[in-house]
Amino acid sequence: MGHQAVEGTAVYIHVPFCSIRCDYCAFATWTDRDSLMGAYVAALREEIATAVDSAMEPASSVFFGGGTPSRLAPEAIQSVLGSLGLREGAEVTMEANPEDVNQASLARWREAGVTRLSIGVQSLDPTVLASLGRHQDAAQSLEAAWAVAGAGFDTWSADLVFGARAETMQSWETTLGTILELDPPHLSCYSLMVEPGTPLQADLARHPDNDLQAELYEATEEILAGSGLSWYEVSNWAIPDAHCRHNLSFWKGGDYRGFGCAAHSRAGERRWWNLRTPERYIEAVSQGRDPMAAEEFLDPTQRCLEALMGAIRTREGIPWDPGRPVPARLSELVVQEAGRLHLNLGGRLLANEVTEELSGALCG
Ligand code: SF4
Repeated sequence: MGHQAVEGTAVYIHVPFCSIRCDYCAFATWTDRDSLMGAYVAALREEIATAVDSAMEPASSVFFGGGTPSRLAPEAIQSVLGSLGLREGAEVTMEANPEDVNQASLARWREAGVTRLSIGVQSLDPTVLASLGRHQDAAQSLEAAWAVAGAGFDTWSADLVFGARAETMQSWETTLGTILELDPPHLSCYSLMVEPGTPLQADLARHPDNDLQAELYEATEEILAGSGLSWYEVSNWAIPDAHCRHNLSFWKGGDYRGFGCAAHSRAGERRWWNLRTPERYIEAVSQGRDPMAAEEFLDPTQRCLEALMGAIRTREGIPWDPGRPVPARLSELVVQEAGRLHLNLGGRLLANEVTEELSGALCG
């Protein structure tokens, strides 16, 4: 399994600020550090300028993730983008929470250079939102999604999450059906995961039911395929040409460069990541120090496994010699065609198990 070269740099920018922490979230984000926003943006610009001075290739894609990037002022997004060299036609994605979306903010994000807005809807059922510990209003989310759909971005996406304890097949079908009325070019539908150390983990009564989650996933595939959205990664569906180029490059093993606290980077066999808290990150950068926390070098087996884990989740799958037999235990879970192997619907529900089985055959 090799990694694929991409032209230009795939840049990830971490924004570690949220208004309220959701019960299932384990990301590096804080709700009480908004006073650091100005210094944080200055540090981001500084860290980026150092990389640009060290001959970093102009960005072919930028992804503002978090956290909640839409909590930063649009001028801050613009100034961070201004410190990066962008390739012609670069994809610039920003994640936004519905509470930050209005006509004025949408116009300013577009002016700042955002080409792809990804809105965190999660669910349109108030009971499900409450069970997720997600403090947002379903009606406001829907209104925000309609505003995003009409705002004139090159493309846009909505994030949904299924499988909260309060979710039923009916509530999920209603959320999906309502979002589909907006003709979204792209949807990310994640199955709720119980992350260590979260309030959700501590509350057993709210843990998802695995069997129902599998049924919800199968229903998602049927409904979205019927609406012209094809899966291109286990949790992502799009119309043709609306794939997230940044994430696709990441899943296919491409190099990427992360900026900001807790941001990870990959270059060939080298991996490194920045200091986790915004305070320590700002302090390091403002003192002219590298904010890297640690680095590691993967051996060929580790690189093969990492590349396999990303690529097997994509519709393109992995290269597979047509003459090579598929391991017997996988015959019901994968499709072999045109020199490649990809997951079928059953395999998508068991992607980790398939990866484990294939790693023995490919990365040993
Ligand atoms: S808005 Fe997103 S990043 Fe912030 S706490 Fe909720 S899930 Fe986590």
